[in-house]
Amino acid sequence: MTDLLLKGGRPWTPGEPLAPADIAIADGRIAAVAPDLEAEGAQVIDLDSATVIDLEGAIVLPGLVDAHCHLDKTMFGGPWVPNTGGRTLEGRIRNGEGRRAELGVPSPDYAANLLSAMVAAGTSVVRSHIDIDPEVGLGGVEAVREAAARLAGRVDVELVAFPQGGLLTRPGVPALLEAALRDGVEVVGGLDPAGFDRDPAGQLDLLFDLAERHGAKIDVHLHDQGLLGAWEYELIIERTKATGMAGRVAISHAYAMGGLEPDHQRRIADALAEAGVAMITCAVGGAPVVPVRLMAEAGARLAIGNDGIRDLWTPYGDGDMLRRVNQVSFRDRLMSDPEIELALAAGTHGGAAVLGLERYGLAVGCNADLLAVNASAPAEAVVGVPPRRLVVKGGAVVARDGVLSAPHSP
Ligand SMILES: [Zn+2]
Repeated sequence: MTDLLLKGGRPWTPGEPLAPADIAIADGRIAAVAPDLEAEGAQVIDLDSATVIDLEGAIVLPGLVDAHCHLDKTMFGGPWVPNTGGRTLEGRIRNGEGRRAELGVPSPDYAANLLSAMVAAGTSVVRSHIDIDPEVGLGGVEAVREAAARLAGRVDVELVAFPQGGLLTRPGVPALLEAALRDGVEVVGGLDPAGFDRDPAGQLDLLFDLAERHGAKIDVHLHDQGLLGAWEYELIIERTKATGMAGRVAISHAYAMGGLEPDHQRRIADALAEAGVAMITCAVGGAPVVPVRLMAEAGARLAIGNDGIRDLWTPYGDGDMLRRVNQVSFRDRLMSDPEIELALAAGTHGGAAVLGLERYGLAVGCNADLLAVNASAPAEAVVGVPPRRLVVKGGAVVARDGVLSAPHSP
């Protein structure tokens, strides 16, 4: 029995031309994709009970994947708070920790506000870093889990235990990270092993040990630039190979990558691909984004995230992943349609690969997580950031024209 029939859309798969097709959805999965299902599919699928939505030629994209954000930090939907973070990493960390109690973060309400905006804009899966330190403990994990529970069925949220204030330099943090992993947090995070903790081998050995013992993935914030940052990529690649963690390790931000000499960039990209280490870029800060074309040519995984949104670190952001894909594409000077589509692939399939999502995409059998936008070409959707006319998660319509649908009863 088909639950939903999306008629007359043009599904997008990276590297393939668009073609008109209907999409039939049953039990949360894509059951059939063909040009005219009512004529051609009548023999094989039962369309009698389906809700029919005419997409009128809209492009259908697989659900957007926000591979890097900070739901615990956000004040989204709350009063305007002028930014007092300053311009240094240390100053922002102090400001972030110093004012969060006064401003009521981490907050399940603010996190739910942001998740709602993400859903309305077509994001179906989110990886959020959560600050872990002696003052907040696991309070951020609890707040974001509560927000995610309110949006259950409309977006999936994966958590990273993130030592924002330092790992080795902060007594008690390693034990708190371990407690978070024991509590079911899926990913262990790091922060500038050299530039902040000043002991790269020490921090990375600790992270890989924690990940191995708890079956966790790894995602390291790495702002360190130049040869220092590049050397840390090598340390992460070496440890990933040694521990057999290919496909489970990511370097977030990776500010050094875009500024390296071309030969050096190429060697790093090849080594990332070989070791199964991903990069996640957010187009924040002054450093160049991770080069999108180079990563694709090397076969290395690249994902995109929104990073901080309306928090004590930044006054900017709206949670819209298509806009973030636009910013990455713009910052990387991607010009031709195939180049721009590489950025869109990073914001969709790339994120799904980095998060290890199964049954992702628009093929038969995939989870029915998708969105529809009016655009003549995928590149135009990235450039124009059009309204999302329809968002579907797990086969249910969760938003139309930018407005969240009422939760459906289970
Ligand atoms: Zn971040």
